[in-house]
Formats: sequence, structure tokens, C-alpha cells
Amino acid sequence: MRRKEREIKNQKEMEDILKACSVCRLAMVDEDKPYLVPMNFGYRDGALYLHSAREGKKIDLIRKNPRVCFEVDEIVQFRKAKEACDWGVEYKSVIGSGKAVFLSDPEEKRRAFDTIMAQYSDGAYDYPGTMLERTLVIKIEIEKMTGKKS
Ligand SMILES: Cc1cc2nc3c(=O)[nH]c(=O)nc-3n(C[C@H](O)[C@H](O)[C@H](O)COP(=O)(O)OP(=O)(O)OC[C@H]3O[C@@H](n4cnc5c(N)ncnc54)[C@H](O)[C@@H]3O)c2cc1C
Repeated sequence: MRRKEREIKNQKEMEDILKACSVCRLAMVDEDKPYLVPMNFGYRDGALYLHSAREGKKIDLIRKNPRVCFEVDEIVQFRKAKEACDWGVEYKSVIGSGKAVFLSDPEEKRRAFDTIMAQYSDGAYDYPGTMLERTLVIKIEIEKMTGKKS
């Protein structure tokens, strides 16, 4: 990272950012082009969990190449100023990469849904078997991540 003073090296601090964010931008490889979609997610123990319909472009691309990149960020505040060049933004962000796998075991899927729901709510939820069957659950095993704050 060019701005070393902005780098977050502490794993826990990166995990705190992941737990505080509500949208993850998931980037995939589409032959010679990138493809990116915003998604809700949950973070637990070094992995992201996402849910999706069974079909669509992102699923087709992940099936072809499971290597993905993701980004999450929090805007802490905008620093307003009189001069345009003095404006700034205080942010915290994490970028990572890893391998996407589709979960098939109903118990693993249930835990993944618990993780996604826990990202947004304190509640406890039940998931009907039909919903578990028809929904795809993606686990991204994070292999590398970096954090930055300004
Ligand atoms: C805040 C937020 C949270 C979301 N959470 C989830 C989630 O948890 N799970 C989930 O499956 N989806 C979620 N979505 C929707 C997601 O961004 C995709 O639209 C969806 O997953 C379908 O992607 P796809 O590749 O299958 O698109 P397809 O239906 O196959 O369509 C592909 C085409 O649509 C365009 N497209 C796809 N998505 C978008 C988009 N969001 N905005 C503009 N153009 C788009 C692509 O550029 C491409 O041209 C969320 C969207 C937002 C904004």
C-alpha cells in the first residue's frame, strides 16, 4: 500500500469493519472483463456468506471461475471545506480475495443464513426447508485481505 500510515494491519480491526458493513461488492472474472455486483452478506470466522437466486450472470461466472474479489466500506464522515481541494472523506475499507463455493449441506446453509441475519439483526430466525432448497448460498473463504482507513 502506497500510504503506509493508512494501512490497517490488525486482523481484528479488519474483522470489525467487515461486521459493521451492510453491503459487499463482489467482483468476478468475465473472460477479459471484470463483473461486479453489490450484495448483502455476513462475516464469520474468515469467510463471507452470501445468498442468491440459483440463476443469473454472477452464478454463471462463479461456476466458470470461483476466484473472486470483494470490497466493503464505511464512510466515517465527509470533511467539508471552502475549497474543493480541501474536501475529504474519512473512511474504513477492506478489500479481499478468495474462492467461492456453493454450500449444499442444509445445516451449513442454515448456519450461513444465521450469519447473514446476524449481520443486520439481533433476532433468531427459522428458515423453511423449501427456502433453504431453492436459495443458493455462497461461502467465500477469504485467502487474503487488506484494510485501509483515512
Ligand atoms: C444493496 C444491495 C444488496 C443486494 N443484496 C443481494 C443479495 O444479498 N443477494 C443477491 O443475489 N443479490 C443482491 N442484490 C442484487 C445484486 O446486486 C444483483 O442485481 C443480483 O444478484 C443479480 O445479479 P446477476 O449477476 O445474477 O444479474 P442478472 O440478473 O443475471 O443480470 C445481469 C445484468 O444486469 C446488470 N445488473 C445486475 N445487477 C445489477 C445491479 N445491482 N445494479 C445494476 N445493474 C445490475 C448487470 O450489469 C448485467 O448487465 C443486492 C443489490 C443491492 C443494491
